[in-house]
Amino acid sequence: LVTRMRPFGETVFAEMSRLAAETGAVNLGQGFPDTDGPPALLEAAARHIREGVNQYPPGPGRPELRSAVAADRKRRYGIDLDPDAEVYVTVGATGGIASSVLGLVEAGDEVVVFEPMYDSYAAVIALAGGVRRPVTLRPGADGRFTFDSGELRAAVGPRTRMIIVNTPHNPTGTVFTRDELAAVAEVCRDNDLIALTDEVYEQLVFDGAEHHPLATLPGMAERTLAVFSIGKTFSVTAWKTGWVTGPEPLVRAARTVNQFLTFTANGALQLAAADALHDEGAWVRRQREALQAKRDRLCAGLRSAGLEVLRPQGTYFVITDIRGLGYSDGIELARALPRTAGVAAVPAQVLYDTPEEGRHLVRFAFCKRDEVLDTAVERLVAAF
Ligand code: PMP
Ligand code: GLN
Repeated sequence: LVTRMRPFGETVFAEMSRLAAETGAVNLGQGFPDTDGPPALLEAAARHIREGVNQYPPGPGRPELRSAVAADRKRRYGIDLDPDAEVYVTVGATGGIASSVLGLVEAGDEVVVFEPMYDSYAAVIALAGGVRRPVTLRPGADGRFTFDSGELRAAVGPRTRMIIVNTPHNPTGTVFTRDELAAVAEVCRDNDLIALTDEVYEQLVFDGAEHHPLATLPGMAERTLAVFSIGKTFSVTAWKTGWVTGPEPLVRAARTVNQFLTFTANGALQLAAADALHDEGAWVRRQREALQAKRDRLCAGLRSAGLEVLRPQGTYFVITDIRGLGYSDGIELARALPRTAGVAAVPAQVLYDTPEEGRHLVRFAFCKRDEVLDTAVERLVAAF
């Protein structure tokens, strides 16, 4: 294994799903729904395959999907995009993150990231030879994770090239407010940074919380690449179909890399995704409402099991603090839990560069059927 990748072992999501499978535990670790996406979407994919969409699509993606993405951004946020120059299709959001970082971060460049952070950020920054500068998100009195703008400013230096902003945020469930994004935008403008935004959970927000794309803030459209995925919004995580939007020079840099990472992505699924973006309304609204109820159900259950719950405003994850139960090490607890309780979860600590900040935090996913959530809670109540 190359030196750059030596600190990275099996991903925590794979490890916990494997433990869950080995022990027959209820898997609230890796984030994937246990019900399918909209039937019309599944049918469209099958139809496109049957009707012969089975050879390489164009490298940047099917024009139907790129146009649908541009129309979606325009309708939702008033963002104008040229579908040919300012949108490209990737193998999942993961492909978008990798091609963007590898195309824009030079060896030795620094990248500011909010921790805890989605695990692929650390790995692709390392592959690029970049250096991570973490800014820690911490829960306030209301349990909502946020950052200190002084710490954000202090993390930026002369070698800083990029900042990665994930909102709604996995694993904390924070939906960054416009004020928080304004602080990020100011730092980007003052230091001429590129922003990479991971907005895969943009539609999964609760209690009327609003998602704001960083690119809609003054001076940000020209310096922001935004990454999306069909997998989260439409409960088809296996489809690994995503897209990136941004200004032409940044898209060109990232796309140049993408040509050689994967060249292109599944064509039939791109066409189905385009259909879904055009007429998503009712299904996504119901999904959002269902997820909000599941959040409430699991949060109440985890509380009844004695965990302190840090209630999320978005995504399908909830962070718990295990100290009230007398535990201190989330990795130890998460590794034991499938056997001792029959439930799998993810230790947040592995998503930090400053591990002591997340030692006592464990993440549970609530994108599961109600009876599955209830079984998990019964088991946790019995085990604690
Ligand atoms: N970013 C975040 C924050 C995620 O949670 C995920 C999904 N686990 C991804 C990116 C990757 O998305 P995809 O499966 O489309 O590659
Ligand atoms: N995004 C999902 C999570 O955070 C799954 C990620 C993965 O398996 N790579 O759990």
